[in-house]
Amino acid sequence: MKIKKNTVVSIDYTLKDDHGNVIDSSQGRGPLKYLHGNGNLIIGLEKALEGKDVGDSFSVTIPPEEGYGFVDEGLIQEVPRNLFDDSQGLEVGMQFQAQTEEGTYILTIKEIKGNTVVVDGNHPLAGQNLNFDIRVVDVREATPEELAHGHAH
Ligand code: ZN
Repeated sequence: MKIKKNTVVSIDYTLKDDHGNVIDSSQGRGPLKYLHGNGNLIIGLEKALEGKDVGDSFSVTIPPEEGYGFVDEGLIQEVPRNLFDDSQGLEVGMQFQAQTEEGTYILTIKEIKGNTVVVDGNHPLAGQNLNFDIRVVDVREATPEELAHGHAH
């Protein structure tokens, strides 16, 4: 069965940056399963998978505009160090969940300058090309329950 809207797709994948460093992979975790055509994956990846069949292997490079977007300088902010629960153990690269009126998002500590912490609310992969190696492991019709929920079970 070919991948089309409302099929449940399982893929093995490896994601690399432009220097060939592996950022993420399904290896050791088992295939990623998702409901196709429902915005569950980044748009560039869903486009690349559309029409592929079980057993297909391919590589695709997804630019930021079809991946995690560009870096928004407005999401990089300086905040007082004492806002953090564990202000002693802060390190560059640490990630925190922040609650705002718009929902939950991930902040990454970019820099620590004395009592000021520079936090970055951009997705860690914003502004990057995403180089995927993909193998389609399984494709099936979604169940009515999966369609109602908008995700794979
Ligand atoms: Zn569900």
